[in-house]
Amino acid sequence: MRRLIRLHIDTQALRANLAILRQRAPRSRVMAVIKANAYGHGLVSTALALAEADAFAVARIEEAVQLRAAGVRQPLLLLEGVYGREQLLEAAALQADLVVHNPLQLALLQEYRGAHRFSLWVKIDTGMNRLGFRPEQFAAVWQRLQQLTPAPLQLRAITHFSRADELDSDASAAQLARFWPLVQSLGVELSIANSAGILAHPASHVHWVRPGLALYGVSPFADRIGSQLGLKAAMTLESTVLTLREVAAGESVGYGARWRATRPSRVAIVAGGYGDGLLCSLPDGAPVLVNGRRARLVGRVSMDMSAVDVTDLEHVPAVGDAVELWGHQLPVEEVARHAGTIPYELLCAVSQRVPVELF
Ligand SMILES: *Cc1c(COP(=O)(O)O)cnc(C)c1O
Repeated sequence: MRRLIRLHIDTQALRANLAILRQRAPRSRVMAVIKANAYGHGLVSTALALAEADAFAVARIEEAVQLRAAGVRQPLLLLEGVYGREQLLEAAALQADLVVHNPLQLALLQEYRGAHRFSLWVKIDTGMNRLGFRPEQFAAVWQRLQQLTPAPLQLRAITHFSRADELDSDASAAQLARFWPLVQSLGVELSIANSAGILAHPASHVHWVRPGLALYGVSPFADRIGSQLGLKAAMTLESTVLTLREVAAGESVGYGARWRATRPSRVAIVAGGYGDGLLCSLPDGAPVLVNGRRARLVGRVSMDMSAVDVTDLEHVPAVGDAVELWGHQLPVEEVARHAGTIPYELLCAVSQRVPVELF
């Protein structure tokens, strides 16, 4: 018996997307961003599928622990660095590379006397105003890091775009204009571009690119989907029809009676609710595929189930039939637009209780 709801991960698509991104940034090495459980795709299995990546980036040290335990040998970058002496020692033991973005991290490194020589990425805040030293602080920070003992194995500089996905914005050019004068004469490796940077701002490619979303086959741009960029969706959230009911005009479906039938309707109850990561903000009318045909979500998502209006489907669905909540036939970008959110949120929200099937 197949699982009622399952995450179908196409590892060949992951590898194909990596190859496409390499073509788009041919002179750069690729640091695959696999934070947040690889955007819901499964941390370790994604890293193993992307064995060709030059490095991996994660947000938290626990993620680095899991990757090393699974035998991942590539460089691993902790994008938020470490918090406290213990984490610094743990990072040394894991041979993790560190982003250094605040004075506390600088002080920790100055006190560090262990044998491991870190590769350090100094984060410069060029306009995101999230992590990083301000441009005017950078020279002093760089100097302090150059004086560390043991000396860092590598000192590098990194920044992050805030609006690279907005093709008509000049914010990325402004960020680059703040970055170049600080780093140009240093002769060190640099990293700037996320997925949107890779696809839309070739000047930002430099030594290392850091794709996340595009690796998973999803578009960072609001006005197009991954397949229009030559990418292939790696995640398909597959479900099953649990039961069918006939609903009379005027009757409601689900909690809070959010949806009410305006005509005699046939409703499929499908496996998959907010306990699996479906957002309650998915509105009536959001698309769902039943046997590959478009139908519409109706009523508030429950913990384990959702309801789908299948009245207009020519082929009447049966219990056990196939449902796609998003994936290779129904772009997650489209579902996200209905939910009033970004595809990142839908991918990351998929809960760990949903079994992963790798292909
Ligand atoms: C998450 C993240 C990325 C990847 O961004 P995408 O938009 O998913 O490509 C790159 N760099 C940093 C610092 C990040 O936090």
